[in-house]
Amino acid sequence: MNSLMWFRQDLRVADNPALVAACEFAKQHQGNVRALYIVTPQQWAQHDVAPIQIDFIERHVNLLAQSLAALGIALDVLHLHWFSDTHAALSDYLQQHNISAVFAGSEPEINERRRDALLIEQGVPLRLLEQDCVLAAGDVSNLSGDMYKVFTPFAKKWKSITCQRAILPVAAPAPVAPALAQPEAIVFECNKRSSEQWAAGEGAAKRILDQFLASQVADYQNERDFPALEGTSRLSPFLALGVISSRQCVAAVLTRYPEALVDDTSPAKTWLNELIWREFYRHLLVAFPRLSMAQNFNELGDGIVWRNNLEEFQAWCEGRTGYPIVDAAMRQLNQTGWMHNRLRMVVASFLTKHLLVDWRWGERYFRQQLIDGDLAANNGGWQWSAGTGCDAQPYFRVFNPMTQSSKFDPDASFIKRYIPEIASWSIKDIHEPKSVNMHDLFAQPDNQGYPKPIVEHKMARLRAIEVLSALKRG
Ligand code: FAD
Repeated sequence: MNSLMWFRQDLRVADNPALVAACEFAKQHQGNVRALYIVTPQQWAQHDVAPIQIDFIERHVNLLAQSLAALGIALDVLHLHWFSDTHAALSDYLQQHNISAVFAGSEPEINERRRDALLIEQGVPLRLLEQDCVLAAGDVSNLSGDMYKVFTPFAKKWKSITCQRAILPVAAPAPVAPALAQPEAIVFECNKRSSEQWAAGEGAAKRILDQFLASQVADYQNERDFPALEGTSRLSPFLALGVISSRQCVAAVLTRYPEALVDDTSPAKTWLNELIWREFYRHLLVAFPRLSMAQNFNELGDGIVWRNNLEEFQAWCEGRTGYPIVDAAMRQLNQTGWMHNRLRMVVASFLTKHLLVDWRWGERYFRQQLIDGDLAANNGGWQWSAGTGCDAQPYFRVFNPMTQSSKFDPDASFIKRYIPEIASWSIKDIHEPKSVNMHDLFAQPDNQGYPKPIVEHKMARLRAIEVLSALKRG
């Protein structure tokens, strides 16, 4: 009996229990193993998957095909339009290759979960393995058996469970057959944007992880908030596609810093916490499917009357708000497909609070640009910033872009990199752009071609607190 490994958000051969299970099944039943990837451009467009992320996926599917060929496994690619086309195409494929069992990693998003549930209901022999997180969704629960709604107790419980388990990544399977010939290039027929500025492959991800742990993780706590520094791992594009697993990351941290789970003074503690944030948001997505459906986690958020000014939104998207820290961040996103975490918080706060634009607009724009676009983390980050989320930032806390700018880019070197037209300005002017009157919105650009601030900070702050007080309980 033959088996199939269906790759989705786990584009790797190492630490892939579903792949190992597919190989074991074929071995036990003296059958062959095949592998499959399904391209669904229309579905991806509906999910706002960024063209740069699609290119990154395509590169990884090609690399995966090569790694699998060395193991004697052929990777096929099916080009469909929608998830709903999967049943017919997959059934034909299984029949054609005489396949009796399909193995895949489970995914946390609602459309993906519905697709899988329907396939199983329709008789597809699909076996889902929990390999998306270190601990499976549902395994980290409070005394009532429910998912935590606050990060700190979730992290505490996550650590206490993890402490009692050996976190051991699974080795890549041994070859199941003689190596196959070099596979032909796989080309996705959809809108793509080059991701070449990012290294690709499992080997690259592993090298980045090793290098980060060897020389940067101990400084992470102090450097992670400064966008001009290379203070964070930049592993997010790889984690988003599953080129490296969170288990591989956690296991590697714990090998070097075995105390990190229990000792608050461990140099690796802060970075480990970020990996736990990733798990928190993914577990939330499973526990609260409405998060996948563009709904406020806090239903009081439904009462917010957003301004949703299209021109202001467009200025934010294009990095023309007149606040250099916001604009440099948006230009980093537009030019590279990635944005530093501190800046994601700054621009999300600016859009939802200073401009009172619905967080869903920003979430969508991020998805359309990000190489690391990930529904769980993106939705979590946006709802946290807007104050509508689970364990969100309080609605009355409004980031001051001037303070954020001087604190986290003190010599303005990050800002100058992305806004060269203001490089000759004094550091003070860069951090504190001159205010304009509300009636002077979209004032003529100044003589360096850089716009004046789109909105006055103090007024915007008070206006945000008033409008977002819809989130006040009682
Ligand atoms: P590091 O600081 O090195 O952290 C290591 C890993 O931990 C990251 O690669 C990521 O997988 C995870 N992680 C770190 N911070 C967070 C966090 N706050 N929430 C969840 N996971 C985290 N992250 C995405 O991967 N995809 C997104 O679409 C995304 N959208 C975001 C939107 C907003 C508004 C905000 C505030 C944050 C968003 N994040 C998102 C989280 C975070 O900004 C990125 O994960 C981080 O900047 C990636 O850089 P890094 O790999 O160098 O992270």
